[in-house]
Amino acid sequence: MANKDYYETLGVNKNASDDEIKSAFRNLAKKYHPDLNKTPEAAEKFKEINEAYSVLSDKSKRANYDQFGSADGPQGFGGGSGGFSGGFSSEGFGGFEDIFNIFSNFGGRTGQAQMREEGEDININLVLSFLDAAFGCEKEVNVTRKERCPDCNGTGAKTNSDYVTCSECNGTGRVTYTQQTLFGMSRTVGVCRNCNGKGKVVKNKCPNCHGSGLKTTTAKIKVKVPAGIDNEQVIRLNGEGNQTASANGVPGDLRISITVQPHSLLVRKGFDLYVDAYVPITTLLLGGKVEVPTLKGKQTIDVAPLTQSNTKYTLKGKGIKYLKGFGSGDIIVTLKGEMPKDMDKNAIKLVKELQAAINEKSYPKTNNYTKKLD
Ligand SMILES: [Zn+2]
Ligand SMILES: [Zn+2]
Repeated sequence: MANKDYYETLGVNKNASDDEIKSAFRNLAKKYHPDLNKTPEAAEKFKEINEAYSVLSDKSKRANYDQFGSADGPQGFGGGSGGFSGGFSSEGFGGFEDIFNIFSNFGGRTGQAQMREEGEDININLVLSFLDAAFGCEKEVNVTRKERCPDCNGTGAKTNSDYVTCSECNGTGRVTYTQQTLFGMSRTVGVCRNCNGKGKVVKNKCPNCHGSGLKTTTAKIKVKVPAGIDNEQVIRLNGEGNQTASANGVPGDLRISITVQPHSLLVRKGFDLYVDAYVPITTLLLGGKVEVPTLKGKQTIDVAPLTQSNTKYTLKGKGIKYLKGFGSGDIIVTLKGEMPKDMDKNAIKLVKELQAAINEKSYPKTNNYTKKLD
């Protein structure tokens, strides 16, 4: 630690002018400031740059450093490496304002006063019937949220004259804290604790919001649900979440998680709908008409004679409307042959006759299972 080369840290030579040192520092500070550089080394590097600059930008410290290898001179603690516990500046540094100016240009978060307040998002659930989700609908939801108090317009003050400039920071929202350390005075600019960086304080509180500037209210909000929405999808309404007390803050969003109730017959997978249609075995044998459910009532399909059980019919474009773009999915009907639950003597006789009449070889033996048994 004792023999750090501050010139090397800033990448300048030993005869560098004050301006050269300043400019090298600015360039490096932009490169390594932890708000702008998220690599793990950046914070450490930034500290080293600060330390080097705090010494080389100060005439007497630089002279001490040049002569004794320490900013504190011959009686020093071995190298001016302490006393900078993450703070931006030390006595005579004059560097903080530099950094501050650099980062205000970058929209950096160096000063609390420059930050915009952000309201929190709100998450709610909305349960939809199957058809509401399929066709889309408009719903009204009740949302309990924080809204800016209408009486004080968010200031939290009883009257305008109760909302006054903070005397600690003169309205800037920032104050400079000076601290005596082993290595001299350390200066840090921070958020004003008296006004929390607002630059204003409240003398008499607004009775409606008790000084918070916010009221919890239940708002009725209209939600347009697009046709085709599905379970677990989220509708996001920008700016309908919690508001901020400050009028130039950004309100949070309202996030609505969708739950769709199941249909009694149709099963949704993506934008297609599936249904099993159970029909008498005789319909599969002789052919006939079968009614199947759709999103808009029932539809009749023609079943050809000798239709195998598990045959699928696709009703093109009768499924769920695509959320994006034109068109819809399909309905896929699977025909399932059903046996009667009982037969009288006469029916049994006729089926026996049928059995005898059908040539065994005319059965397709779809998966050849009898052969596979051998
Ligand atoms: Zn203040
Ligand atoms: Zn109020």
